[in-house]
Amino acid sequence: MLVQNSFDIQGKIIAITGGGGVLGSNMASYLASQGAKVAIMDLRAELAIAKAETIAKNGEEAIGLAANVLDQSSLEHALDIIVNRFGKVDALINAAGGNMPGATIGPDSDIFSLSMEAFQKVSELNLNGSVLPSLVFGKHMVAHKAGAIINISSMTAQRAISRVVGYSAAKAAIDNYTKWLACEFALKFGDGLRVNAIAPGFFIGDQNRKLLLHEDGSLTTRGAAIIKQTPMGRFGDANELNGTIHWLLSEAARFVTGIVVPIDGGFSAYSGI
Ligand code: NAD
Repeated sequence: MLVQNSFDIQGKIIAITGGGGVLGSNMASYLASQGAKVAIMDLRAELAIAKAETIAKNGEEAIGLAANVLDQSSLEHALDIIVNRFGKVDALINAAGGNMPGATIGPDSDIFSLSMEAFQKVSELNLNGSVLPSLVFGKHMVAHKAGAIINISSMTAQRAISRVVGYSAAKAAIDNYTKWLACEFALKFGDGLRVNAIAPGFFIGDQNRKLLLHEDGSLTTRGAAIIKQTPMGRFGDANELNGTIHWLLSEAARFVTGIVVPIDGGFSAYSGI
């Protein structure tokens, strides 16, 4: 079947968890600018609503609402509101996630100081927090025999990156879950349902700013080590995720499912030599 502009995402209804955060809100702005209707969900409802209001001021379509990715009834309620407003959901981006201070191993410590409670919390947010929304929204997509889900992995999924033990384990599980769900959906519900992930390299955000940059903007030891391992020699800009997200959501990727796309300036490809 020949599609005139297979990259066209105009009118697609795209729900984003963690849409009030740095990366999710940037994706929401971009997708709305391309004619998509975006549903921005966040635990911090005020962020999601403010973002949607900003987008709507440009004459683009957006709704902001509260949704906790760890609470099924909260997600079902959000889905109802989105369907009432836009009629259906075409795509879900699981952008809620992130590291938690208690689940990391400090430079003067070791693995035996790990708090299992913190490990469990970070695992829940970064793994269950993508599984549960993909069940709630996925069921809706299955009923329509069409839909695309994008998970957010990380450079920590494939290689050991010091300190972030719980976050890394959960992101590694996201890679596997992305492949698993892609196969499950295609095998049982047909080729209209796709599940993929992006694996961002290093983007300065609220969670990692202090780890990577000193207050004067110069690199910390960890920041310098990352730049050294990145052939392009810099951190990413949040806007640099948008092209891949756009492609994965569009008809242009209609035979693409179960992949994890690194967007990392070469970090994951480089041996360091
Ligand atoms: P962020 O902290 O700016 O945004 C995350 C958002 O998720 C926040 O707005 C937060 O309120 C929301 N959230 C937290 N718990 C929630 C819950 N239970 N229910 C609903 N929403 C909840 O983080 P970010 O930098 O935008 O990261 C987005 C995703 O990308 C995360 O999965 C993160 O791990 C991943 N990631 C980020 C980077 C980076 O460099 N920033 C790199 C790789 C992967």
